[in-house]
Amino acid sequence: MTVTARLLIILAVLAAGTAALGLVRCEGDAPLVVIDGPIWIGKEAREVTFSAEDPGSGLRHVQVFLDTAEGSRSLLETRAEAGWLLGTADSDDPEWRFQLSGRGLPDGEATLRVSATDWSWAHGLEGNTTEASVPVLIDTKPPRISIESGLTYVKRAGSAAVTYRLDGPAALDGVRVGDRFFRGFPAAETGKRRIAVFAVPRDLEGSPKISVVATDLAGNAASRSWATQFQDREFAQVPIQLPERFFENTVPELAADLGIDESDVVATFRAINEGVRASNEETISGVTRMADEPRHFVGGFLQMRNSLVTSRFAEARSYLYGGTEVSRATHFGYDLAATARAPVEASNAGRVVFAQELGIYGRCVIVDHGLGVTSLYGHLSEIDVSVGDIVGRGQTLGRSGATGLAGGDHLHFAILVGGVYVDPLEWWDARWVRDRVEARARGATP
Ligand SMILES: [Zn+2]
Repeated sequence: MTVTARLLIILAVLAAGTAALGLVRCEGDAPLVVIDGPIWIGKEAREVTFSAEDPGSGLRHVQVFLDTAEGSRSLLETRAEAGWLLGTADSDDPEWRFQLSGRGLPDGEATLRVSATDWSWAHGLEGNTTEASVPVLIDTKPPRISIESGLTYVKRAGSAAVTYRLDGPAALDGVRVGDRFFRGFPAAETGKRRIAVFAVPRDLEGSPKISVVATDLAGNAASRSWATQFQDREFAQVPIQLPERFFENTVPELAADLGIDESDVVATFRAINEGVRASNEETISGVTRMADEPRHFVGGFLQMRNSLVTSRFAEARSYLYGGTEVSRATHFGYDLAATARAPVEASNAGRVVFAQELGIYGRCVIVDHGLGVTSLYGHLSEIDVSVGDIVGRGQTLGRSGATGLAGGDHLHFAILVGGVYVDPLEWWDARWVRDRVEARARGATP
């Protein structure tokens, strides 16, 4: 082959290659840009994310603008290094993020625009461009909370209710007591009044700081306190002598059920009373903390029929075996004894949110009565309801028993508000429920 022929072949190959590259590089697929809106922007900066990618030739230029009543401003601009010949490799992560705060911006409607251009040779080498936009709502004013309720009394481990109004929709509102949050609910089926039932946890140190809090959709937070009167109280210390038969029967049987294998009966009892109890409390807290049913309860809560109180709320128990303390626990409910396998009834109307075995509580049912108030029934021999069932006040949930950590047939009954155990005595008192909760929900009393 002559030199000229060789040159011609090389040139032909180069031309074909360039043409092929040109075809590929002239791709007409514009970048893919996705932003979800509307975006609420408050005073505090929040992260805004969107996705932008260009599988064809890679992104060359990405720019983000915010158009407000006062004009347009560029929030973000990125240019890729030279990618004329081969484009740029698209990053594995198409997510883009930046911080945006409403500080210094005019409150009201705005538009967020993303413009993305690729490395394509299309459009006279300008590339393909995608523009996407979403509405932005700038709101830098904190929500206004107007509290309706007057002086509110609350005891340690007791409950209370407060009603209030907000000047706009909230992402989250309720009452904060120390570091605990109790969510708010509509006070009635119609209207803008809100109600929050709250409690002072038994173990909260000192006097609680109580306020109504609200965070709006733009993330602006506000809090407002009102006249509250806190009554402290002490709880009984109760020594409990554990009989020999408890270690001979109850503990080994429960340990076998729970799969606990400890060296001796005392260690086994401790593993159940401390380890299993803590994990059961986590489960209960998870089920009850964000209880979200609207109000089902009406009137006072029912105490188990013909029952004798054998143990009260928040007793600090010291368990003794052969004269020595082997474990401790706080008893967060009432123990009620009637006859063996006595019917256990729903203390008020609600929705069943838990109905299964639960460690020390044995067969256990939890009912959500609305406004964050739940009740728990433990040690049942039989459960007659399922999760999701709506139950009426006094409807049978099952039968009493001695499942879990129980010495004999009885009902362990507890009430929680926002996942915090409270003294059921207040809720068993029809007058207390009427005056302290229902009257406030209706707006009848201050
Ligand atoms: Zn109990």
